[in-house]
Amino acid sequence: MDRKLTSVNANGRNYGVPARPVVVVCVDGCEPDYITQAIQAGVAPYMKRMLESGTSLVGDCVVPSFTNPNNLSIVTGAPPAVHGICGNYFLDPATGKEVMMNDVAYLRSGTILAALSGAGLKVAVITAKDKLRSLLGHGMADICFSAEKADKATLADGGIADVPALVGKPVPSVYSADLSEFVFAAGVKLLETTRPDVMYLSTTDYVQHKCAPGTVGANDFYAMMDGYLAQLDALGAVIALTADHGMSPKTDAAGNPRIVFLQQALDALAGAGESRVILPITDPYVVHHGALGSFATIYLKEPSSTSTIMAALRALDGVEVVMTREEAAQRFELPPDRIGDVVVISDHLTVLGTRATEHDLSGLTVPLRSHGGLSEQKVPLLFNRRLQGLPEARRWRNFDIFDLALNHACVTTA
Ligand SMILES: [Zn+2]
Repeated sequence: MDRKLTSVNANGRNYGVPARPVVVVCVDGCEPDYITQAIQAGVAPYMKRMLESGTSLVGDCVVPSFTNPNNLSIVTGAPPAVHGICGNYFLDPATGKEVMMNDVAYLRSGTILAALSGAGLKVAVITAKDKLRSLLGHGMADICFSAEKADKATLADGGIADVPALVGKPVPSVYSADLSEFVFAAGVKLLETTRPDVMYLSTTDYVQHKCAPGTVGANDFYAMMDGYLAQLDALGAVIALTADHGMSPKTDAAGNPRIVFLQQALDALAGAGESRVILPITDPYVVHHGALGSFATIYLKEPSSTSTIMAALRALDGVEVVMTREEAAQRFELPPDRIGDVVVISDHLTVLGTRATEHDLSGLTVPLRSHGGLSEQKVPLLFNRRLQGLPEARRWRNFDIFDLALNHACVTTA
């Protein structure tokens, strides 16, 4: 590395070159209350120390409060209007087909990770689910692998081989807390061995979809995480923790899911085939949420019907916000060419579906918890250092985490 280099630029922001390892952790679905409750229960002594001797802020994630848009915002330091990833899933206007947004072809900007790697820093990315691997690792020459396919990583494709042997754990099931534990365990091993300058660890929200803050299942997960964070700290890392989105119960008091089936409602209102509802939460791993989230976008065949349809949607119980494409693109900094004519957001306790017949809820063994809306926008920003030189109080975003970690938690090399 060029030792004279003091900062790199990505998407118009400068990031300082750290003098010691920096670990940025994205805890999937980490509603701030999970941390509060784990600390209150006495199972997260390290995070308690972070609150006391480090810095704790609350920030806003990107809406739709889904995994892919937020992970990409975090690693680019920019909103979806810049990087282009506005859902896990979308209607590709070029083909008219509904597709996953996992392909790097959809990425419209570089990442901070690629900029750091390009400047000669040693960078490592570990993600729980494989769906994020190519997007997060785009343009980066260093280590990038998923826990889900840890055994498939090679030196040529991932910059590392024999990961399960290094970590001393088998490849975990994709539906398990172990998948996230593997990410932390691998992070600790990497810091002990190759000692990357910057690491990005991204977990999965399997536990948060099932367990409310303060429950045994949630506290066990945060206790596990707490132990690994303490190890990273003991190895000398600057730690910065945030979340891709929060998580809310989406049920009535009896635990039954509250669902607005938008395609059914629109078909009744305007006729079959007049509209197409897209649920950007959709991904290959739907067992724990049935593809039900709090954000939907709608394509209309007849644009002149937009205001009538919007008024009808606003009257539905559980619907919080209905916006035009332009309003949503402006308010949430989304790429307008990748969202429908109308955007719908449901409330704290409600999710949006297409038709009852299209959602398999048989995998939901506990009351539905999900995200996607404004009610899941608040996320923690937690550091094991006192941040220096912060500007006046402002609205923090989860995608400020690299700025805060590299420019305000670290002393840069001279
Ligand atoms: Zn997520």
